[in-house]
Amino acid sequence: MEIRPLEDLRTADNLSLAFNPYGLGGRMKPEDAAEFQQRQIADCDLAAGVATGTRDSFERLRTVFAYGVLCHDIYTMVADQALLIYEQALRDRFMEWCAGTITFRVPNSPDVSHTVSSYEDVKKRADAMRGRRAKLVVATHAIEFNGMLYGLRLWARAAGLLRGRRSRAIEDALAKLRNYVAHPSGHHVDTPVEAAGTVRDLAELINQLWGQATPGGRLYPAPLRREIAVLSWNGSGRARMEPADALTATDHVDGHEDDEYQHVVVRAIPFVPGSRWDDAHWAEFDTLYETTRFPMDYLWGPGTREQARTWLEKERPEGDSVDFIDRVFLVQDHGRLLPPMRPAVAAGLPDNERAGVWHAVRADFPDDAFAHVRGSGDRSAGHTRRPGDCAACSAEVLGCGSYDETLRAAAAALGPIQAVRPPSVRLPVSVFWPDRP
Ligand SMILES: [Zn+2]
Repeated sequence: MEIRPLEDLRTADNLSLAFNPYGLGGRMKPEDAAEFQQRQIADCDLAAGVATGTRDSFERLRTVFAYGVLCHDIYTMVADQALLIYEQALRDRFMEWCAGTITFRVPNSPDVSHTVSSYEDVKKRADAMRGRRAKLVVATHAIEFNGMLYGLRLWARAAGLLRGRRSRAIEDALAKLRNYVAHPSGHHVDTPVEAAGTVRDLAELINQLWGQATPGGRLYPAPLRREIAVLSWNGSGRARMEPADALTATDHVDGHEDDEYQHVVVRAIPFVPGSRWDDAHWAEFDTLYETTRFPMDYLWGPGTREQARTWLEKERPEGDSVDFIDRVFLVQDHGRLLPPMRPAVAAGLPDNERAGVWHAVRADFPDDAFAHVRGSGDRSAGHTRRPGDCAACSAEVLGCGSYDETLRAAAAALGPIQAVRPPSVRLPVSVFWPDRP
């Protein structure tokens, strides 16, 4: 190979300079590129308890990433290495979880426990036990466990260490990429954007394995802050959402226009344009159906602006934080498919509104639950009908059947369900969920 002088090695790679904060296009100065690229992953720090081996590998990855400015190939190597650390993190976490003992359930005989001191031991045991059709005992479950990435992923989900329905689909994709990296069959090149994204996903996964969700995360987001907001609408289909402060903090004299508006007070994710947490469906709010993407709680209304202000000043409701992933929805199919409903609202329905076939589905968003149920009507679409993870989408089937059966399936997942009966209030104009009774 050609021997390059040190000066040459220290020179920025033209390919790396082509990526700037606005994507491909204008070329960055080397010093700006060095700072910009490091900033892309600067804030993904690992949680305090993460195992030393995983932590060392991850920190090495972050160190090497900075050199991508000098050598563009490093971005491809960083992304590949990140996928291998994905498996290392699962192994390290497994060893902490098992605390030196793994237990297998063997058909027609008592459970068998083995002492293990390394992951190599775990793999040997898993191999030996598979011949006896044994399953690994994980809390109240017994799972297939081959000691490979597939088994580790089943274990992490069964042990409740990884959560979220959409993140499960991304874990699938990461596992496929990891297998590709371990057994490459072609040439691929990652850009700094892709490499930084993979490193960030890896940081989220490691932190979640060690019990820490990521604030603002893409895969395992921490609970979101909700504030008190006021929704209002008028007869000509105009709708507004404003923070409760807008009513109470100012000495505002309402114009005539406001007289024709109806108001409801809700607890909702604050509307920040362009944020990942923007609820594009906020104006679909309905007390009976989950027609907003993020959970929005009804507090008061409808009434005039003045009445809303009086209620807010007297009650002074406060914000909270809400975990929106892994929610349970009930979908009623009665001649037509109705929007997803919260189990508590379904439990409070009068007898004459319980007809038809019901589906209990776990999903991160109501649209995911609805799309699954609609898709499962078509057998060729590949959606799972029996309880378990859907093979075709990011929903989990909990059960389906009569109203009572389905509510029982939801209660089995959630614990006892407290029925609620909110007054029926909804905004009049709907783009995304027009088909409601
Ligand atoms: Zn599905």
